[in-house]
Amino acid sequence: MPSDIDLKGLVRTIPDYPKPGIMFRDITTLLGHAAGFRACVEDLVRPFQDQRVESVAGVEARGFILGGAAADRLRCGFVPIRKKGKLPHKAIGQDYELEYGIDVIEVHEDALSPGEPVLLVDDLIATGGTAVAAVKLLRRLRAEVVGAAFVIDLPDLGGCARLAELGVECHTLISFE
Ligand code: IMP
Repeated sequence: MPSDIDLKGLVRTIPDYPKPGIMFRDITTLLGHAAGFRACVEDLVRPFQDQRVESVAGVEARGFILGGAAADRLRCGFVPIRKKGKLPHKAIGQDYELEYGIDVIEVHEDALSPGEPVLLVDDLIATGGTAVAAVKLLRRLRAEVVGAAFVIDLPDLGGCARLAELGVECHTLISFE
C-alpha cells in the first residue's frame, strides 16, 4: 500500500533556477524528512520487490542517493552511472542531447553481467534524454532493464513515453504539470 505521507508537499519548488522560466523541483527537502525519505524509497521499490532484481543503477547525482537506498531495500548491488571522466576504471559512454549541446554519461564496462536484471533509478524524469541514454548504456552491457523508477515525473515533457518506446516501463510517484 502506498504511504499516506504527502510526498509532493515535501518537494520544494524553486522558480527561475537554474535559469529564468525553469521551475526547479528540489527534493532535498523530501530527503531531509526522515519519514518522507523512508516512505519515498519504499514506494519507489514496491513494484519491484517480488521481481528478480540483482542491481540498481543510479544516475549522478541525486540518483545515487535514491538508488543507493533502493538497492539496500531490494538487497542488491548498486551501479553508478556518472558524468564523463569521473569513473576510475575502464568505462563506456553514451551521449545524449541537452537543450543546448550534448552531454555524456558513463558506466564501468564490467559493472553488470550479460542478462543481469537491473532497475534504473533517478530523482526526476523530464524529457527522458538522460534515462534513455542510461538504458542504452545498460543494454550495451547486455543487462536486462526490468524497469525505471523516478520520484518525480514531468509528463508534459514526455520522458516516460520515450522509455515506453524502448520497452521500459516507468514507475513514478509524483507528477508536476
Ligand atoms: P531529462 O533528461 O530531460 O529527463 O532530465 C532529467 C535529469 O535532469 C535528471 O537526472 C534530473 O536529476 C535532472 N533534472 C531536470 N529537471 C530537474 C528538476 O526540476 N529538479 C531536479 N532535477 C532535475
